[in-house]
Amino acid sequence: MPETFPSGIRSRISDELASLRKQSQFRDLEILHGVNLSSNDYLGLATRPEFKQAVLDAVSQAESMGSTGSRLLSGNARAWKDLETEFAQFAGTEAALYFGSGYAANVGLLSSILTPGDIVFSDECNHASLIDGMRLSGAEKIIYPHLDLDFLGKALAEHRGAAGAKLIVTESLFSMEGDIAPLDQLLRLARANGAELVIDEAHAIGVYGPQGRGLAAQFGIEREVFAIVHTCGKALASMGAFVCGGATLKQFLINRARTFIFTTAAVPYMAGQIRAALEFAQTADSKRVHLQSIATALRQALRTRGLRSGNGNSHIVPVFFGSNEMALHVAEKLRSNGFAVKPIRPPTVPAGAARVRLSLTSNITLAQVHQLVSAISAAIESTPPSTGTNALHSCLSASS
Ligand code: PMP
Repeated sequence: MPETFPSGIRSRISDELASLRKQSQFRDLEILHGVNLSSNDYLGLATRPEFKQAVLDAVSQAESMGSTGSRLLSGNARAWKDLETEFAQFAGTEAALYFGSGYAANVGLLSSILTPGDIVFSDECNHASLIDGMRLSGAEKIIYPHLDLDFLGKALAEHRGAAGAKLIVTESLFSMEGDIAPLDQLLRLARANGAELVIDEAHAIGVYGPQGRGLAAQFGIEREVFAIVHTCGKALASMGAFVCGGATLKQFLINRARTFIFTTAAVPYMAGQIRAALEFAQTADSKRVHLQSIATALRQALRTRGLRSGNGNSHIVPVFFGSNEMALHVAEKLRSNGFAVKPIRPPTVPAGAARVRLSLTSNITLAQVHQLVSAISAAIESTPPSTGTNALHSCLSASS
């Protein structure tokens, strides 16, 4: 066998790592310390003693510690069947199907419902799991500028006569921008053009809507959209995700979604953890009010200091710096001041849109928000001249 095959791969991956380092895009795994501003535990549930006790109870009540197989074989525990029924009620849809992660849910859903010849309209800021699902499907992709409904409306109208099925895909609360999609208008556009709508509620579940049921529920459209993906790894402090929609969609996914079919079912006691989280989320109005009030205070304080945090008003607050170096510098300074933040760089966000993403949870106090803003100002003032300008270019250019 020619020697170049194995050594070709080795030198290529080394070269790629060197190039990532050069562009300040190299990432390593680290354990964050300090006030946690990188967490998706929006309701502060992960460390609550009552929640831990509920998980211990779920473990002790479970007959089996393993799921023993995929759902289509021996892994279909009663706990999952019952939780899916309960979750559909929570989501306000006819049915729900649990996947092992939000990534698997989005990839399984989109890669199975779309086929080559279909057209999928996708917001440019959609999450990688949505993008990967669309790519795998082989459907034609039309990417519209972030929240640009004029562009989307025109693109839909242009393709009205096309033979294939049409689908609009959006996050409800955007994970990197912290702004909210006008779901009612998206549904109207879909309807007017013979398209369906899929909504990813990963960052909205638990935080928005009546009893934390998400933004589709807040807009009152949960029964009308084709599918809603609710993940459990963020405000629900658990793992996995439910694809919520009609009973026919559920049956279809059980038969066709490869990320559901060809994987071991999650352990049955995880269903108990998710159930406990759901109960907590539904009665967490005071946490939601606090979260919104610290988010508003943070955005106002940033604006007062001339910093840009986008058009949103949610608990996800990006502070745009443009250059990778500047975002890295500010994040590093904040960490040395006791704030656990990470810079967000391409390819997670577009080139030139590097930022520090501040993700608030209900555990954060108003006093900590003010300390944080002072620390950001101090970090910017200490910027070395070589760090590049505060370019403030973002994925939001179309809407800001
Ligand atoms: N959708 C969005 C919008 C996300 O932000 C994420 C995770 N960051 C996912 C889906 C994937 O969910 P999970 O982490 O459960 O795989």
